[in-house]
Amino acid sequence: MELETISSISTPMGEGAIAIVRLSGHDAIEIADRLYKGKKSLLEVESHTINYGHIIDPETAETVEEVMVAVMRAPRTYTRENIVEINCHGGIMTVNRILELTLTHGARLAEPGEFTKRAFLNGRIDLSQAEGIMDFIRSKTDRASKVAMNQIEGRLSTMIKGLRQSILEILAQVEVNIDYPEYDDVEEATTQFLLTEARRIEQSIDALLTTGAQGKILREGLSTVIVGKPNVGKSSMLNTLIQDNKAIVTEIAGTTRDVLEEYVNVRGVPLRLVDTAGIRETEDIVEKIGVERSREALSKADLILYVLNYNEALTDSDYQLAEAIKHEDVIVIINKTDLEQKLDIAEVKKMMGEVPIVETSMLSQAGIDQLEEQIAKLFFEGAVQQQDMTYVSNARHISLLKSAKAAINDAMNAAEMGVPIDIVQIDLIRTWELLGEVIGEEVSDSLIDQLFSQFCLGK
Ligand code: GDP
Ligand code: ZN
Repeated sequence: MELETISSISTPMGEGAIAIVRLSGHDAIEIADRLYKGKKSLLEVESHTINYGHIIDPETAETVEEVMVAVMRAPRTYTRENIVEINCHGGIMTVNRILELTLTHGARLAEPGEFTKRAFLNGRIDLSQAEGIMDFIRSKTDRASKVAMNQIEGRLSTMIKGLRQSILEILAQVEVNIDYPEYDDVEEATTQFLLTEARRIEQSIDALLTTGAQGKILREGLSTVIVGKPNVGKSSMLNTLIQDNKAIVTEIAGTTRDVLEEYVNVRGVPLRLVDTAGIRETEDIVEKIGVERSREALSKADLILYVLNYNEALTDSDYQLAEAIKHEDVIVIINKTDLEQKLDIAEVKKMMGEVPIVETSMLSQAGIDQLEEQIAKLFFEGAVQQQDMTYVSNARHISLLKSAKAAINDAMNAAEMGVPIDIVQIDLIRTWELLGEVIGEEVSDSLIDQLFSQFCLGK
């Protein structure tokens, strides 16, 4: 069955000087040729060429636009179908007009993500690669796009495929042992073999999951809360971090009311400075919303920057705050080092335990480098060591991997308890299926539709 030819504007609306209308499908070249006038018909040009000409409205014979048309014949294309890209430099009206002409002359408007969906359906990419592309489109920092890129290149797929292969090998070996018992204690030997191999697979899944938390942070930003008594320099620090680093996004669409989130990129670590509007206005979230509620807010943060005043001895409320954040990832910032020392650093260490301490002066801008270094260090010296390792950065992948881990645990528990081996095999098969879902080999159509509809239009 032929899929209909689809068409859409594949460049961001209102951005850039060039806009592209992209068609994909069996009739892409014919449809474009109905609207095109150049030295040669598009039907005659070679594949993977760019052709100068004009778009003419066939009904009115009016020249709509001067264009460069790329013609790419299947199967060496993104979707493995014929693709035509009409490049024009006109404004949004012209682009829309060309899109409309393709629609009235045989193409159908593409759904969001449909080009990538076709690449998937035509076997050009697997599902985790498709999702990698989706994350790539949305990624906010260089490092995040590198992670997305790795996924596109199929590294996650390769690892998952390896795990699935191992499960098949276990299943096969178990079959052989059952069918051809060569020794008396075959049952015991089979169980031992299964447990050893299953544990290895569980460890690999665990390793992938460990990178999951980091991956999520890379995409969504490390949610960071700045706390401290009034007047210690929280706002000054926030402003310094924002000025010193490229702000990535100022406001996130879909967040409600007055909640403002500032994104800054600190040495490759995306920080999402949470509720900074609140901090700015009230100066002290702890005093405003009370210790109990702030404790709740604080426990949701990935990172807490706790600011103290070098020029003032510790007070009760410092201790209260320290108590509230003792289970979190904290960097202590001792600010106002340009002033006279009244703070006992040894006492701070005693109060906080083993946490990094950085001394700064927002007035003279001293210590900012060390602070930024500390933030990056805390992040990258955690589970993430190599920059090019494969991260699992997608919520759906993480949840599937967790289920797969649970399933293989079930298999191991059952084996240990002496449950008949064919029952144990069911859990192994379930693990194999769940891993398959990560790379799209065991997914239902509706799931595929849901995933691809999240893509930007024209991708
Ligand atoms: P917040 O209440 O914790 O947000 O503190 P602010 O950032 O609003 O700063 C309170 C006051 O301290 C302001 O007058 C700042 O200019 C001043 N301040 C902030 N950082 C420093 C510093 O490192 N040294 C000195 N001397 N003053 C500072
Ligand atoms: Zn302030």
